[in-house]
Amino acid sequence: MRLIQTPTNTYLTLVSTAGILFFISFIQYPQYPPETWFTMFAIAGTILLLNYYTILLPPKGNSLSMDSSVYLACLFLYGLPFTLSVLFIYSLVFAIMQRNIVWWKHIFNFSTYALMIISSYYSFIFLGGTIGNIHINNFLPYLIALSCYFAINVMLIGVYFILAAAESLESVFKEIIKETLSPYLSTLMLSLVLVILMDSNDVFGLFLFTCIAFLLSLAFKQHFHLFKEISEKANKDFLTGLNNHGYFKEILVEEVAAAKENDQPLCVVLLDIDDFKKYNDLYGHIEGDHLLQEFGLLIKTAAEQENFIVARYGGEEFSIIMPNTTCQKAISFMNELRKKTNDTYYKGVERLPYGCLSFSAGIAECEKETYNTSELLNKADQAMYSAKGQGKNLVHIYNQYSEYSTQRSLSLEKELEEAEHQLRIFLSKDVYTYRHSKRVYQYAVDFSRILTLSDYERKTLILGALIHDIGKIEIPRDILNKKGKLEPHEWEMMKMHVTWGKEIISTNKKLEDLIPLVELHHERYDGNGYPYGLKGKSIPKLARILCIIDSFDAMTTERPYQKTKTFEEAIIELRTCSGKQFDPQFVEPFIAMIKQQDNSMVSHKTEQLVI
Ligand code: GH3
Ligand code: MG
Ligand code: MG
Repeated sequence: MRLIQTPTNTYLTLVSTAGILFFISFIQYPQYPPETWFTMFAIAGTILLLNYYTILLPPKGNSLSMDSSVYLACLFLYGLPFTLSVLFIYSLVFAIMQRNIVWWKHIFNFSTYALMIISSYYSFIFLGGTIGNIHINNFLPYLIALSCYFAINVMLIGVYFILAAAESLESVFKEIIKETLSPYLSTLMLSLVLVILMDSNDVFGLFLFTCIAFLLSLAFKQHFHLFKEISEKANKDFLTGLNNHGYFKEILVEEVAAAKENDQPLCVVLLDIDDFKKYNDLYGHIEGDHLLQEFGLLIKTAAEQENFIVARYGGEEFSIIMPNTTCQKAISFMNELRKKTNDTYYKGVERLPYGCLSFSAGIAECEKETYNTSELLNKADQAMYSAKGQGKNLVHIYNQYSEYSTQRSLSLEKELEEAEHQLRIFLSKDVYTYRHSKRVYQYAVDFSRILTLSDYERKTLILGALIHDIGKIEIPRDILNKKGKLEPHEWEMMKMHVTWGKEIISTNKKLEDLIPLVELHHERYDGNGYPYGLKGKSIPKLARILCIIDSFDAMTTERPYQKTKTFEEAIIELRTCSGKQFDPQFVEPFIAMIKQQDNSMVSHKTEQLVI
């Protein structure tokens, strides 16, 4: 925290000092006649009003004040000292009115405005702009002065955010410009309208402008509240008032990203009411709906105490996101909720099989290597079905070593057949990759026998090994078969095969579980791989294993652009790169397996896809 604070404080002091110094040098202690003072106070009053009646912008409700239009109009009509005096009067009155805001914020705000006004004025004068009546010849100077005002504002505020929030330069400026460019520019253009109005009658012009700004503010406020109401409705489930499925998934993506970034645990729960169809059959859908509403309220009340996020996942299924929660805590919460559900009397539940309302739930904990939210939900779903399978009214935590319903897991034979079929497309174009894939597949079959993998993982690794390079189908033949070193652009294209591979298999829902292997098998343990540069355990385990197998085969077989290594040389290379390219925990077991295999294995005749 201190590290962030110090440069922020220095920055605030620097900007504030610069703003005040510039202000003092340019204010020129003006002697104005009383009517000018009157105009100044009227303008400062207008700015106060405009800052109170701001324009609220969806989606986040950022507020936009039209005060900048007034400063710029003053600048073009009356020049710099006048505008700075108005700024000073306004800032003083505002600071007196808002004494609860810390003093340095008032000074920083005043200084940024002073710097924006001064730089805008000098860019206007530099380009030949003349103060006073509006003139078409001044169009370019007006435009540049407006742009300069905006640019200085973005810069001063942007640097503050970079220092205070330790965010990247690019992301901060992108965000500010994206959010503010169009509303800001329209406010600035309005300054020219105000100049024309004030030019014909200063006080009345200002009054008219303020009325318009006030009415616009009211209209935008209404519009914003309507937007909020509608977006809230779009995110809520009509029956239970809980978050709906779509919104739940949006929040889950954000929560998972936050948990990974902050290295915090996170659990997801899917729960399904037991024998709900029976309840509907007994009492009808209307009563069923009532029960869903009451049950929804029960979980919502319990979850809110723990800051968990509840949603209606669909039908009689609900989901809970539990940020900063381990699965031990999650299961004790869920078992308490289960008990409470059993103990709460709902009309007619005595005729259900358990004589009370019950649910079955599955919990999945997000791990560093969790590929995406679908994987997490899949796991929770499998755990939930396991709870159903074991007699309902149960809560299960996903366990990778459990055998879940075979009908829901990959049926290996069928999948292999389909994957093989897809792979044959290679044959005509890239025989090398086809054979390489089959050898990698055979290594995966052998290696998965040695490792402690669940059946599900074993199937995923074997299938993934077979089709991991499918994206190479998109790479031009001349690059694939090029003898000698690849040019940088060719290499970039070669690297794209992981992304293209992901795109190809994403079209087949059944191959969804293989996406991490296809996309991430070129990530390196030290974070220097591609496409994302993931590091260590952030790379899914199976992708780390596949990386070793894949590289070993690549080293030991003939490639168009690389000399073949002997097994001994490849083993040395694996060891050299252990902890850098490869996950060390799998390198030695793999080497042991290779050494154990008979020398005749070198030929790797694995044309038959048999396990
Ligand atoms: P299980 O214990 O295996 O979960 O059995 P079940 O009867 O709860 O599950 P099944 O999937 O067989 O049936 C779910 C029922 O939920 C069927 C459907 O009519 C009912 N349902 C889904 N959405 C709603 C709804 O919005 N209102 C009402 N009243 N019923 C719904
Ligand atoms: Mg169901
Ligand atoms: Mg059910």
